[in-house]
Amino acid sequence: MRKNIIFLSLVILISLASASCRRISNRNDDKEVILASFTVLADIIKNIAKDDFVVRSITKPGVEVHGYQPTPSDLVDASRAFVFVDNGFGFELWAEKFVSNLQVKRISVAEDLDPIFISEDFYKGKPNPHAWISPKRGLLYVDILVESLSELRPSKRSFFEENGKIYKEKLSEIDKEFSLFINNLNKDRRYLVSCEGAFSYLTNDYGLEEVYLWPVNAESQITPKRMAKTISLVKDKNLPSVFCESTVSNESQMVIANETGANFGGNLFVDSLSDDSGPASSYIQMLRHNLDLIKKGLY
Ligand SMILES: [Zn+2]
Repeated sequence: MRKNIIFLSLVILISLASASCRRISNRNDDKEVILASFTVLADIIKNIAKDDFVVRSITKPGVEVHGYQPTPSDLVDASRAFVFVDNGFGFELWAEKFVSNLQVKRISVAEDLDPIFISEDFYKGKPNPHAWISPKRGLLYVDILVESLSELRPSKRSFFEENGKIYKEKLSEIDKEFSLFINNLNKDRRYLVSCEGAFSYLTNDYGLEEVYLWPVNAESQITPKRMAKTISLVKDKNLPSVFCESTVSNESQMVIANETGANFGGNLFVDSLSDDSGPASSYIQMLRHNLDLIKKGLY
């Protein structure tokens, strides 16, 4: 109760502060801000909105997104934003509470996507949130965001559409490369073993089997039963490599690699981009990095 009162007071203070700041920023003709929940989404939006908006992500590169705890300055940022864009499908466990007291427009991309449901454990029956990990769905993200931004700023529709078209051509190239690689891969090797069950859309769309240590990073602990099951599968299928993700510890996957003799194929990027000096500082680079690691690991 006390926590709620403090939170509410903070929100009221922020609303008052942001109202005056918004007036100041309008007077200075500052660009309006699109605030995305995570770096991947912010990068896709930047490619569509270009210089028409300032696009920022609440969560920073490399940060775990599912269970992120927004800070007071995140609330200030969101209260001043033109629009808040999140993935949805329960990806941002913090988003509902975060926006509930703010007067900010919201776009949830997942509202226009078909989900793949999580089939096991605590999250069974809930949508798997990681749709962007498949280039085929990435193309849909672009369409959805082009439409959403055009509705918000109709005079810029053709500008957003043109930017979206150019961006989708780059995504389509990676989509074709993924398809080509998987279609030429020996059927016995079409398994992707990762830490988080974040690759369901990728494996579903390109014809791989998905094996993971835990369904969602918010519950990033492997049970002894799943550890044993994964070890026996990697051994039985004689899989050459196992993988983990950049935002969690790869310790458990290293144990599996040691137990089975498989290589540790590296950290795939899913929930967050890398910083500028890393291998996945944009969505396109992230998809390419993942494809390269998967190619090297499974071939
Ligand atoms: Zn995740």
